[in-house]
Amino acid sequence: ELARRSEALLNTRHISELRDSSKYAYRQKRAEKKVLELRDKILDHEYLFHGDELTPAEQRDHRLDKEIYRLVKDHAKKDDDAGDYYRIPEAYDAAGNVHQEKRFAVATQRYDDPDKAARDGNKRSNFSEQEDWEEQQIRKSRLHFGSNDAGLAGDGYELLFDDDDAVEFVKSAVQMDEGDQMDELAEAIDAKVTLKRELQDERKNLPVYKFKDDLLKAIEEYQVLIIVGETGSGKTTQIPQYLHEAGYTAKGKKIACTQPRRVAAMSVAARVAQEMGVKLGHEVGYSIRFEDCTSERTVIKYMTDGMLLREFLGEPDLASYSVVIVDEAHERTLSTDILFGLVKDIVRFRPDVKLLISSATLNAVKFSDFFDGAPIFKIPGRRYKVDIYYSVAPEADYIKAAVVTILKLHLREPAGDILLFLTGQEEIETVEEILKERMRTLASKMAELVICPIYANLPTELQSKIFEPTPEGARKVVLATNIAETSLTIDGIKYVIDPGFCKIKSYNPRTGMESLLRAPISKASADQRAGRSGRTGPGKCYRLFTEYNFRNDLDDDTVPEIQRSNLANVVLRLKALGINDLVNFDFMDPPASESLLKALEELFALGALNGRGELTKTGRRMAEFPLDPMLSKAIVASEKYKCSEEVVTIAAMLSAGNAVFYRPKDKQVHADTARQAFNVGNVGDHVALLNVYNAWKESNYSPQWCRENFVHSRTMKRARDVRDQLEALLERVEIEPCSSAGDLTAIRKAITAGYFRNAARLQKDGSYRAGKCQQKVLVHPNSGMVQVLPPWVVYHELVQTSKEYIRQVTELKPEWLVEIAPHYYQ
Ligand code: ADP
Ligand code: MG
Repeated sequence: ELARRSEALLNTRHISELRDSSKYAYRQKRAEKKVLELRDKILDHEYLFHGDELTPAEQRDHRLDKEIYRLVKDHAKKDDDAGDYYRIPEAYDAAGNVHQEKRFAVATQRYDDPDKAARDGNKRSNFSEQEDWEEQQIRKSRLHFGSNDAGLAGDGYELLFDDDDAVEFVKSAVQMDEGDQMDELAEAIDAKVTLKRELQDERKNLPVYKFKDDLLKAIEEYQVLIIVGETGSGKTTQIPQYLHEAGYTAKGKKIACTQPRRVAAMSVAARVAQEMGVKLGHEVGYSIRFEDCTSERTVIKYMTDGMLLREFLGEPDLASYSVVIVDEAHERTLSTDILFGLVKDIVRFRPDVKLLISSATLNAVKFSDFFDGAPIFKIPGRRYKVDIYYSVAPEADYIKAAVVTILKLHLREPAGDILLFLTGQEEIETVEEILKERMRTLASKMAELVICPIYANLPTELQSKIFEPTPEGARKVVLATNIAETSLTIDGIKYVIDPGFCKIKSYNPRTGMESLLRAPISKASADQRAGRSGRTGPGKCYRLFTEYNFRNDLDDDTVPEIQRSNLANVVLRLKALGINDLVNFDFMDPPASESLLKALEELFALGALNGRGELTKTGRRMAEFPLDPMLSKAIVASEKYKCSEEVVTIAAMLSAGNAVFYRPKDKQVHADTARQAFNVGNVGDHVALLNVYNAWKESNYSPQWCRENFVHSRTMKRARDVRDQLEALLERVEIEPCSSAGDLTAIRKAITAGYFRNAARLQKDGSYRAGKCQQKVLVHPNSGMVQVLPPWVVYHELVQTSKEYIRQVTELKPEWLVEIAPHYYQ
């Protein structure tokens, strides 16, 4: 059957060539042979196609058809002259209906020559065979994908010709001999097939593979299972696939797998999509704040723990999921801890749902105890011996120490990649710059050093660079945040450099101040980090602190985030879910009651709760926005001040996640001037952000405009996306889009309505006193207001680096505070 089909396709090609020289015929023969070879190759290797209603044989068939079809189509496309026959899609209209006459028009035109017409019968039969096949394909795809009649033609067309769906061929820009083109095609397919095979082999080599059947049996038997295994054993990437293969995604149900970090969710989803041979966002997708890369077909959904928490709002029983995997449970993020309480409740009334709690540490008993003694499934890990080296004396500057260690390792140690843990983007960029500088001066004396940064705001295209194999003779150095501690596994790491710090959120319930601080890591973290070097062979870990520090100064474990966070956001969400009794909520480690009280107080001050602690209309509206309560409040308040358009723009700019401006070393003055131009009237950074956005919009979202104004166009694009989503949410909470028409006071009042607690008053020495506790803070040097320093300001956030800085600062009139937040300021 397959032979017949490909023959038919090849013959169609043949027709047009009859009129050409015999040279063509020779090439055609070669092409034909190649196609048959390729077909064998494809047949040889099982191309998985994950449509769940298809049997494996059907899947292969379908795939194969598409493959051969594309191959010939692709090949034919290259020959313009013969194009009429091969641009088969032209015989379909936009809706995908087949137009027979269109084809025959072409056909008759071609064969008006009586000689050729004599052979018409022959050609016609080839043609109809071809048609039959196409028809059959369309029918098949309709069948398989269950499109209804209205949408069917379009869908069928899409499916059959979707470029993204099929094997991608490498297209060379260079014109080549046809035989070469075929060789190239062959190579491309070869490479794909090899990659596929390699990926499948890799999957089988992961420690979890040996336990696949036992694991599935355990999951079948128990509703809740705790899974423990070393980082890199395949928990995150493999278990959802096993469940999918075992039928947990039948009947339209999905598998959810939560990750504490955005980058992990995206990266792991991309990997799994690749392993399954599907396009990211189709069967395998991810969902993170402001970015939903899933579709109707998605059955394996990676998401941040915060996103699953949000899904409870729309679907309190998570009915669309057959399995919920709370991954990286040991991280104990705020959202994960809240999820624990909620999913524990769900398993009680949904006997059909499976709950897996997966963790990288051996301290799983605590999870088991919390989930009513759920069994623990251990995946025996493999970890090679890791030699640990400590600094002899404490390092004053760990950045410098880290760079020196990297270079030393690179010069002296045998092959193997290096992983350095830093606390954030700024540090990573600094180290990257220093290393590049050193490489320039030392280039002739050293082998190549491939520098790969990874942090949350790194553009997606660059994120995958860390997984690319290191070129022969070179050494890779990965500069990572905590993300590489357990969430991501990078193969080939042999040396770990650990300065012993991470950024940690801390909250003082007495003052109500939350800040992101650089703090020493815990012993448990240090051990995890060291372990990253011993995954594929013996490793070495260089700690940039002393052994004495390690033993005496580091805590055993990191304090769960819930005990060091502002809980206003969580309390608002729980209230929105109808959970009123927070004191008796099933927390694994309950937060300090002081923190809970503080959160209730804050929400009350924002008008989200009434005096009895019940959600108000304002509170319900605020809960719809995936933002901090203060920012949500500013948006909700923009209704009153008639400036929702502007406030939503500002909120989007604040949430876009990355720096808006950049400052190239050689053009700092230009950049500063450009930047200052947005600070119209010196009223504040919020309005400046608004001006940036509007000017960019006026330029028709031009990247050129961004370059001229030293603005990151990527941040702007993201802000635009975020803005679109916030605008949709405005509509949902029934706030009319409304513009203040240049009234900056209205905008500033709306901001103040959210951020009145972040009011600060100027002191004689140029510092400010912030909040009720009168903490001393400074305006961040990056702020446009650093030269202005108005008597009163409201700020977006407090960051602690060498000093306590306030960022995104806007001028405020003190009388507004009493007007806007009377219960707080009177
Ligand atoms: P675990 O969850 O148990 O820590 P994972 O399932 O994340 O393990 O990782 C299993 C393997 O998959 C590792 O060898 C890792 O290197 C590989 N892997 C995971 N994500 C990616 C990716 N985005 N690109 C390449 N390899 C990846
Ligand atoms: Mg994992």
